Amino acid sequence: MFKKILVANRGEIALRIQRACSELGITAVMVYSEADRDAKYVKLAEEAVCIGPAPSAQSYLNMPALISAAEVTDAEAIHPGYGFLSENADFAERVEKSGFQFIGPTPESIRMMGDKVSAKQAMIKAGVPCVPGSEGELPDDATQVRRLAKTIGYPVIIKAAGGGGGRGMRVVHTDAALINAVQMTKAEAGAAFGNPAVYMEKYLQNPRHIEIQILADKHKNAVYLGERDCSMQRRHQKVIEEAPAPGIARRLIERVGERCVAACKKIGYRGAGTFEFLYENGEFYFIEMNTRVQVEHPVTEFITGVDIVRTQIMVAAGEKLPFTQRQIQIRGHAIECRINAEDPFQFTPSPGRITTWHQPGGPGVRVDSHIYTNYFVPPNYDSMIGKLIAHGDTREQALARMRTALNEAVVEGIQCNIPLHRELMVDASFVAGGTNIHYLEAWLAQHKR
Ligand code: ADP
Repeated sequence: MFKKILVANRGEIALRIQRACSELGITAVMVYSEADRDAKYVKLAEEAVCIGPAPSAQSYLNMPALISAAEVTDAEAIHPGYGFLSENADFAERVEKSGFQFIGPTPESIRMMGDKVSAKQAMIKAGVPCVPGSEGELPDDATQVRRLAKTIGYPVIIKAAGGGGGRGMRVVHTDAALINAVQMTKAEAGAAFGNPAVYMEKYLQNPRHIEIQILADKHKNAVYLGERDCSMQRRHQKVIEEAPAPGIARRLIERVGERCVAACKKIGYRGAGTFEFLYENGEFYFIEMNTRVQVEHPVTEFITGVDIVRTQIMVAAGEKLPFTQRQIQIRGHAIECRINAEDPFQFTPSPGRITTWHQPGGPGVRVDSHIYTNYFVPPNYDSMIGKLIAHGDTREQALARMRTALNEAVVEGIQCNIPLHRELMVDASFVAGGTNIHYLEAWLAQHKR
């Protein structure tokens, strides 16, 4: 096992990894930008290294600064968390070339999955069901593109091969709008992701977002840890996640889970990963794979009892997965609310000083957050300041615990989206379960204020 790991991230996930290290008797070296000097995990750290000024480009995305931080502290491995450099194959490569273990898949796997066109091709080969669409990148020839759209059937969605974070996508309803939309998406993709390649998919009208969590080791073992339903989204970004997905038969999940495991074995995948699917009319359609730990991993940890971050570290150190598929049992139901520093209904970011923070608690309640009373939320990063997760024997109990926890929580000094979550947790359709990916935006439009 490693003696020392560098945590190349910030915020709640940095604290989450620090906690896993502490439990394993590993020293976690924390890094921070000048804006994160007062972070809780920096204060708790045995060792911490300032890697640069507030802008991410000069700190959390600064590869030489991160690698030298690992060098000066004699760390053996680097955990990238999520976001920032976690899915950057060049970073993973530089980490390994510098003699450190990257806690994640190989650079080759990251590269393959980072390009959604090659990811989809690999999945088709491995027998994972995909959204019908172009076989690869769209050709330049307009006639061919139009013919393809006609074959797939409108509406279609044009997606950037290098896209992520809900950006680089455009829905097209008519032949007349197609070519212009393709050109605009290409231009945006080139500017935003440095890769103008786009592809086409059938635009599914009312799907749910269902994803499968997997864990794999370096000894060809892989398991799936059930599914998560992340359909409650705004602007393609997840707001609430839960596990299991309400109303989907276990045998359907098992069938797709087994496909994901087979795909992992086929591509030599190692570490934690998530296969994201759209689910409509009883069918799963792969959209992309995330080659890292996800924000919503705690709901899976609650229902399986598996510590995903701990397992990531263990398999990176070369250990075998400590469980088999048969030992993975689903117990109860878990729901996660992402807590963002923002206006709960207008969504304008609300950084600043938190004057009061009362953390909820009680049976089945977990809070993953680095905030504290008097903490200053810097304006430089993502607005997520933590996650509230509730577990119960049933979905009803998990919901009840979540409502209680949301009512107990107090955040003062800044605005946050807890008031929105309080309303959603009593919304009749959400409570019934199985809402689709458009539900939250339609709800917000109806509840405008
Ligand atoms: P990103 O990497 O930016 O998150 P994804 O491919 O995972 O992009 O898609 C994000 C979201 O966009 C999905 O959860 C879904 O809401 C929507 N989406 C993507 N592809 C389709 C599609 N073919 N049909 C309908 N919605 C889609």
